[in-house]
Amino acid sequence: MSNTVRVRFAPSPTGYVHIGSLRTALYNYLFARKNKGVNILRIEDTDRNRLVEGAVENLLRTMEWAGIDFDESVEKGGPFGPYRQSERLDIYKKHIDLLLEKGHAYYCFATAEELDEMRRQQEARGEAPKYDGRYRDYPRDQARRRVEQGEAYVVRMRVPDSGETRFRDVVRGEVAFQNDLLDDQVLLKGDGFPTYHLANVVDDHLMGVTHVIRGEEWLPSTPKHVLLYRFFGWEMPRFAHLPLLLNADRSKLSKRQGDVAVEDYIKKGYLPQALVNFVALLGWNPGEDRELFSMDDLTEAFRLEKVNKAGAVFDVDKLNWMNGQYLREMDTGPLTAFLKPFFEQAGLDVSDPQVLEKMARAVAPRINKGEDVAAFADLLRGEMPDITEAEALEILNLPDTTGVLQRFVQKASALGHLSPESFKQIMKEIQKEEGVKGPALWKPVRVAITSGTSGPDLPLVIDILGREKVVAMVRHVLENYCNS
Ligand code: GLU
Repeated sequence: MSNTVRVRFAPSPTGYVHIGSLRTALYNYLFARKNKGVNILRIEDTDRNRLVEGAVENLLRTMEWAGIDFDESVEKGGPFGPYRQSERLDIYKKHIDLLLEKGHAYYCFATAEELDEMRRQQEARGEAPKYDGRYRDYPRDQARRRVEQGEAYVVRMRVPDSGETRFRDVVRGEVAFQNDLLDDQVLLKGDGFPTYHLANVVDDHLMGVTHVIRGEEWLPSTPKHVLLYRFFGWEMPRFAHLPLLLNADRSKLSKRQGDVAVEDYIKKGYLPQALVNFVALLGWNPGEDRELFSMDDLTEAFRLEKVNKAGAVFDVDKLNWMNGQYLREMDTGPLTAFLKPFFEQAGLDVSDPQVLEKMARAVAPRINKGEDVAAFADLLRGEMPDITEAEALEILNLPDTTGVLQRFVQKASALGHLSPESFKQIMKEIQKEEGVKGPALWKPVRVAITSGTSGPDLPLVIDILGREKVVAMVRHVLENYCNS
């Protein structure tokens, strides 16, 4: 085998991409790029019950969104294809036969009812459920005959009864499993499809995979894989099992406590660079204080040896912060294009590109993600103020407020167009004429127009709303909220 690093992301397409899968895909990608290796995408679709239409397309789209690309895949092809397991059945069949021949696997005819009964009895005895090996020593010629006669069967691997299976994991070091605790795993199912275990090992070998980087949930399967490598007499890849992702309460990341699908985050208006940056730091420590990493920075800094063993807490506040950072770094053009669907979703008119751009600039400093623009929808639409904030109500009843707002209405009404410049000019005049300056001058106007004491840039908001709406709003406030 050459020294080229070859890694694979091997998802089972179940309809959505779990955030943990994104991390697995990302680490494989970073490791391949870092080592000038090859990144493979293999579709593991041998579980026919879990197939979902459009899942592969969705997966490819999501990877593209995240900026993760592959050198060999279902789309691109490559020297070791096909890259979809359902198209490799003859390959698995050949390997099953090899194991049967060598006695490392055997036919099993136990029916589903039989296995249920077995499990029930084990549970009644307080034992952990495990296949009891009832067909292990069944004579091979008799088994062949039953198969030829068309009887339903599966093929199981013969796990040694005693001893242990050990391997080295890049993340966890030496790992050992007691063989007597391992099941005689089914390798070929009744429907003629291989199980994940067989197909995965055969393909990793045939595709020249050098490093298996995957989630910790696959760790218990690994001794079975190690045994399969031995049965076949193949060199093993290196294994690296990535730590679990946890909720804030340290339970396993679950749908019940928040979103787990990458698609959910896309819908909410997270940026790919932010989600990638955030996910990269879940379980890997770059060993420096910096938190913002572009894909190139990540590629540069990534070390598989620096992946942690301990579970990584998914801190959505940190993700929000990070997304806000990326959002504020965007140029106006891309920012506007990114926010447009979210303004639209919030019911705002997005038909005028100039107004749209101003809306984007107005909200960008105050949001963390796309859907946050909804909080500004009423304001940007020019709804009549609805003021509830205590401090805002207080400001409207300060002695100078009414004078300031009345003069504002007078002056703004006299203008043909209220631009940010003319607005500033008016405010200067009011300052002089009313003898009021600083917060006593500015705050009432801000409150009257934005309903609050803080919010988006005022000249920009006024520019978006236009003179008529602004005058109507301030009048409304004078009539409904000011004392005198
Ligand atoms: N098909 C498995 C999955 O869905 C792949 C696990 C592995 O990488 O070996 O995650």
